[in-house]
Amino acid sequence: MDLPRKLRNYVGGTWVESSAIEYLDITNPATTEVLGKVPLSPASEVGQAAEAAASAFPAWRRTPAPDRIQYLFKLKALLEEHLDELERTITVECGKTLEESKGEMRRAIENVEVACGIPSMMQGKVTEDIASGIDELMIRQPVGVGAAIAPFNFPGMIPFWFMPYALACGNTYLVKPSERVPLTMQKVFALLDQIGLPKGVVNLVNGGRETVDAILDHPKIGAVSFVGSTKVARYIYGRAAANGKRAQCQGGAKNPVIVLPDADIEMTTRITADSAFGCAGQRCLAASLAITVGAAAQPFTQAMAEAADQRQVGYGLDANVQMGPVITAESKVRIERAIAEGAEQGGQVLVDGRGARIPGFEHGFFIRPTILENIPIQSEIVRTEIFGPVLGVLHVETIDDAISLVNSGRYGNMACLFTSDGSAARKFRYECEAGNIGINIGVAAPMAFFPFSGWKDSFFGDLHGQSMDAVEFFTQKKVVVERWPKTWSRKF
Ligand code: NAD
Repeated sequence: MDLPRKLRNYVGGTWVESSAIEYLDITNPATTEVLGKVPLSPASEVGQAAEAAASAFPAWRRTPAPDRIQYLFKLKALLEEHLDELERTITVECGKTLEESKGEMRRAIENVEVACGIPSMMQGKVTEDIASGIDELMIRQPVGVGAAIAPFNFPGMIPFWFMPYALACGNTYLVKPSERVPLTMQKVFALLDQIGLPKGVVNLVNGGRETVDAILDHPKIGAVSFVGSTKVARYIYGRAAANGKRAQCQGGAKNPVIVLPDADIEMTTRITADSAFGCAGQRCLAASLAITVGAAAQPFTQAMAEAADQRQVGYGLDANVQMGPVITAESKVRIERAIAEGAEQGGQVLVDGRGARIPGFEHGFFIRPTILENIPIQSEIVRTEIFGPVLGVLHVETIDDAISLVNSGRYGNMACLFTSDGSAARKFRYECEAGNIGINIGVAAPMAFFPFSGWKDSFFGDLHGQSMDAVEFFTQKKVVVERWPKTWSRKF
């Protein structure tokens, strides 16, 4: 699939050049090669996409659910056929390793598979004889036009937390990818173009803030799904809700991993290193704080420092590389500044990833894994998301201290515990204020048939992405109370 240098939008079943005044460079973060240009589409182009989707909606919602999912089966087959290319595109524009891109696309496809179950997932309820001869039923109908606004760190997967369910439920749709990584969705839409969907059922509009605001304000868009930073999630939730739309907005995170003295240190370290440094720490489920309890402190910290030191950093397309670059030069500067602040505030930089130079990729946005120990608990660096390969290590005396520390944070995306004690695990699962819990797991990423949860400042809304939550989000319930008096029947 060759893409034009200047990316286009896909509106009403046609690729169209944007009238944007401004185009941004799309940059490979490892090589700094400019891969193409993405338009910052104006509000008028969101309007055209929303109108196209609204026009397609009446016929699409009348298409029987078993017929609608046939398109998704075709999409799954095409995604599988073009998997290598999609995975390479993710690595090239986003920087993660090919292995990580494979995992990402697997979850994207899994969501298509789950959404193929819509004919049963979308079923309603009936109670006969709520009074004599009167029946009551609840049916689910699509909301109308939905839109997804995506972040940079999973260019292939995140629109799939929403889009397959939206379409399967009979909605029409619009995707706005991150302007930093728009190539993968161009390729996904080239495949969507081949499956024969009626024109306007799916639309792609590239852009930045102005494009997002146009989505939030367009009267024909009824449901907005957002994934990105907390500040923007809060803003989008407020503006979408003020305009009467449904909104589900996933935000940032500061995920803790607790290590009890009875944990298997070898396993814990290996898994925590993958969690903290996988995807260069740019994962909303990345471990960014490790809290050891009692005697776990010394062996865990030492083993983590070794694991951080040994991690192979480089270009994600190289087979032996375990960690790629961060997304932009600005991110690199911001993360290195955060490490410096941690040190200024009294933290010890056990492993310092600043100033990384990768042979052959000297201009790439690389930071090596970094470990900061004993930063004061109240400092900003312990409290805010860094979104880079930086793990803070803190030590406490009891599991209760660890849980209170976890629950004192503003985020609630994920919390993990490493232990061999079942009752400690149960207590942790029960008491921790986070939407995704890992027990001897470092990245507790829900499969597509579970909701992708998130609490506190990590989520604004009530229904999450994926699975039945997505079906609930993309349908509105209609309750019908029916009386059919026997005396009206001519036959019986
Ligand atoms: P971001 O918030 O900067 O951007 C996300 C999207 O919002 C992009 O499409 C962007 O164009 C748009 N946007 C940015 N600023 C805007 C503004 N002021 N007004 C309107 N739209 C705006 O996020 P990012 O840097 O692309 O992604 C990283 C963030 O996403 C991290 O905080 C990470 O934790 C979070 N994230 C969360 C989850 C989750 O499930 N909770 C998953 C992935 C990423």
